[in-house]
Amino acid sequence: MDLGESLHHESDGDQDLPPMQCDACELALQSPERHTLSFLLLDQLTAPLVGCDDHLQQFTSICGYTTEASAELLNHRPAGGVSCPSCGLAAHTPHQPLIPVEGGAVAILTCPEHQSEIINRFQTGLNTQHQLTAELGAAGPRDVL
Ligand SMILES: [Zn+2]
Ligand SMILES: [Zn+2]
Repeated sequence: MDLGESLHHESDGDQDLPPMQCDACELALQSPERHTLSFLLLDQLTAPLVGCDDHLQQFTSICGYTTEASAELLNHRPAGGVSCPSCGLAAHTPHQPLIPVEGGAVAILTCPEHQSEIINRFQTGLNTQHQLTAELGAAGPRDVL
């Protein structure tokens, strides 16, 4: 599967990428190289993520609403590596679910089990964030997943 081919036209729906306005995310997601890999540390979870810095930060802070500790974002492999062996393998698989994040999208490169856990956290965090920002009217109605 050659991801480079998908660059030819953005209205050509041969990718599962959701519409996004963030070129940096798109670039990161389409890059076959993994130098863009970041790591989300959330409680006991270590999840490799792909996306642009801005949206990874947003994703991380939204997940942070769901933990009493803080969610952290590393731009390098954590010292202990990825604790779940299946997650370690998942970083090399081409099928990554994309999570829309406010105009961008990040990919979670984990095993399905941890994927759904993180997606759950993200959605819970998103609800919390919407409640917190409702007064500001900053968050318009937006379909997330
Ligand atoms: Zn982005
Ligand atoms: Zn896992």
